[in-house]
Amino acid sequence: MRLGTAATWVCAFFMTVSNAHARSAGHDRADAQALELAQQAIALRSVRGPGNRVPQVAALFKSALVAGGFNDADVTITPVDDTAFLVARWQGQDPKRKPLVISGHMDVVEAKPSDWQRDPFTPVIENGLLYGRGASDMKLDDALVIAALVELKREGYTPRRDIVLAFSGDEETTMKTTTMLAKELANAEMVLNVDGTGGQLDPQGKPQYFTWSGAEKTYADFELTVTSPGGHSSRPYDPNAINRLSAALVRIGHYKFKPELTELTRAYFAAAARNERTEIAAAMRAFSADPTDAEAVAVLQANPETIGKIGTTCVVTMINGGHAFNALPQRATANVNCRIFPGHSRAQIMEELQRVAADPAVQFKDVSQGSIATEASPLRPDVVDAITRAIHLGYPGVPVFPTMSAGASDSMWFRNEHIPSYGVSPLFIKDSDRFSHGLNERIPVDDVRPSIDYMLSMFTDLSK
Ligand SMILES: [Zn+2]
Repeated sequence: MRLGTAATWVCAFFMTVSNAHARSAGHDRADAQALELAQQAIALRSVRGPGNRVPQVAALFKSALVAGGFNDADVTITPVDDTAFLVARWQGQDPKRKPLVISGHMDVVEAKPSDWQRDPFTPVIENGLLYGRGASDMKLDDALVIAALVELKREGYTPRRDIVLAFSGDEETTMKTTTMLAKELANAEMVLNVDGTGGQLDPQGKPQYFTWSGAEKTYADFELTVTSPGGHSSRPYDPNAINRLSAALVRIGHYKFKPELTELTRAYFAAAARNERTEIAAAMRAFSADPTDAEAVAVLQANPETIGKIGTTCVVTMINGGHAFNALPQRATANVNCRIFPGHSRAQIMEELQRVAADPAVQFKDVSQGSIATEASPLRPDVVDAITRAIHLGYPGVPVFPTMSAGASDSMWFRNEHIPSYGVSPLFIKDSDRFSHGLNERIPVDDVRPSIDYMLSMFTDLSK
């Protein structure tokens, strides 16, 4: 019933917008299916914990794939704790070629209905925006992938290499299903992860540029502790646990890690400089030419948008200490959170912080959870060309360039298996509509049409 009414509505919607978009080949059925499937998936509350409906999202996606021509036996759902992962295999003509893996996740971050203007698990389309938890991260992306694969089947396409759809069920939390997927699919040629990055719209809705991700920084948490016998606060002595910890934290706060430049970030700066204000653009260009240029480094380090792109960053995020107003502290602890530049291990960065703290009384402990250090994936010309061509179908002439993501995604576990992995979500959004993980998450419905064209183009280019 729901499907019938929504599908009718979707068709009416696309008739009204189709005037604005000229399109050579029609993929209206795929467009409509993607939007309908995204709404059905948003309505399933796939949040970790009691009542987690990831398995139902997987079942929904499986039924769409099987109805679209996938063999039932080639689409498997594996339950893991309260969640599940889905693998769908489309066999290619040449068994000697390694598979193309398309990765995504079916879980979403918790959303409290009382905080939202609308119920987060009741999808709504209003003023051209699809609202709901998972609209931008990443149930629409999932639905687009499925609708695009079904469209390729409908058109009679046969890939040369296997296309394997790999949807995890706990990307936002423990990533246990992703580690299992990465092991199972370790022989892949490459992974296209349709999560994260994407296109930028200006406040008027005009496309500015598109970025895709070829590397991620490594997330790390280090716990710093100073202990002392304590005593009565009327008889202070050294060491005072809070003082010693504070002094170490101030030294860490002033410390700047060595600036670094890679093939990927050089390509990023070259392209990003075209969209930046003059001072930042000049610094990006100078830094790309010479990463030891102190003036350029100072400008980029002073800007929160660029400091993370030129090296490792560490910052204190929590402190805790003392136990009574009138007692010397017996214990003080702090958490230092780091985003490590590709190519360094967590242990290496912790050692560097210990040197900077320069106080043997400060104990360091790596308390990072669910994070591993990975290398950047290579800038393969076939991948760069396929992404650029696919974006230019819907957004001709828009600059397309790689970037390094600040946080961990499923790509981390595939890179850990030495599979080149690329973050390639096709969705364009304004800054004012960016609410992944936040309130009133939304995505422009106009993204659907160019995203289907993008996926059809990229999936065929890279599976030929
Ligand atoms: Zn995501």
